[in-house]
Amino acid sequence: MFGIVYWKIMIISCVAAITLWPAATPQAQPVAFAEWLKELKTEARARGIRPVILDSALAGVRPIKRVIELDRRQPEFTLVFWDYLSNSVNDQRVWRGRKLLAEHRPLLKRVARKYGVQPRFLVAFWGLESNFGDFTGKFSVIGALVTLAFDPRRAKFFREQLLAALSLINDGHMAVGVKGSWAGAMGNHQFIPTTYRDFAVDFDGDGRRDLWNSLPDIFASAANYLSRSGWDDRYTWGREIRLPPGFNPEVSALDIRKPLSEWQQLGVRRFDGRDLPAVDLDGSVILPAGFNGPAFLVYKNYRTVLVWNRSIFYAIAVGHLADRINGGGPLLAVRPDNEVTLSRADIIDMQRRLMRRGFDPGAADGTAGPMTRKAIKAFQKSVHLPADGFPSSGLLERLRDTGSSQ
Ligand code: CA
Repeated sequence: MFGIVYWKIMIISCVAAITLWPAATPQAQPVAFAEWLKELKTEARARGIRPVILDSALAGVRPIKRVIELDRRQPEFTLVFWDYLSNSVNDQRVWRGRKLLAEHRPLLKRVARKYGVQPRFLVAFWGLESNFGDFTGKFSVIGALVTLAFDPRRAKFFREQLLAALSLINDGHMAVGVKGSWAGAMGNHQFIPTTYRDFAVDFDGDGRRDLWNSLPDIFASAANYLSRSGWDDRYTWGREIRLPPGFNPEVSALDIRKPLSEWQQLGVRRFDGRDLPAVDLDGSVILPAGFNGPAFLVYKNYRTVLVWNRSIFYAIAVGHLADRINGGGPLLAVRPDNEVTLSRADIIDMQRRLMRRGFDPGAADGTAGPMTRKAIKAFQKSVHLPADGFPSSGLLERLRDTGSSQ
């Protein structure tokens, strides 16, 4: 499942891979598209999709310019954790989530028993993906997927999505004119077609897997997807923590896992100062807003959320929203009031300065991905700064200052 947020992250991470819209000339495109569509139909028929379905689903279909625009969009500023969190977990959404959790508790409990996912998480995903079903997308799914499958940039991936969507229509699970996001995500949990095909379930027993109108199907499909991606309902997702003075932020990384008992020995505590739970479980410390921001100890269910959506902000937001829906309060860490948002140009400047100093941030593409964060960590270590790998404005200033003397 890729929500809108996922695509934002994908877009940021794909900036370097941008290619041009394939039409070399206005005359060339219709011919190329018609041939492409003919060939697509042949493949779809070979996969068992009936011609009558293809004729009706693909009748008059054309690439949608707006879809390409949305696919090519580059955000001017990097996403700031606090802005992201306050947008996705606000009081209105928490309040509605609590109400819906109470209202649908018997159904959610039945789903939880069968699939092993706690109800509060099912409601939290629902809230983040479509605001509890309010926004399931207005684009023609087939039109959007045809556009992205014809466009060479990620043609293979979207061709597979398109064929999966046609197959779902062929099997009667959704209508020919199905609507979704500009990238073809559908229904209350914004499943992409292959996720829909592989994980959606018919929980109300009417023979259709309906992720728009059937709450039993909607909740059970999300639970089935999570369960088959490794969810373990004996545990929660993680928690906000307090780090001890002198904590080395170098050990804050998703790929560094230690038993909770070891984190306890290193001085990590719950935010209110109490001991960590005495359970046999591994966790990683993560600092999504850098060393001066909130700290989290995340468990294996957090990694399962990353299967659903690979954004680390999303995964924290869904866990935090679930906690709040369950009666919990806001994060306890305080948002700094002097936080400066870095632009893409700032990040590019940072990357170039790191390169000049012999660190390898990957391409200077304005995206602070894993390579850039690793390079920042190495630079921070070399100048005895807390090595959190976070691209802050303070770090950029430091690079600019130290750069000027060389
Ligand atoms: Ca059904």
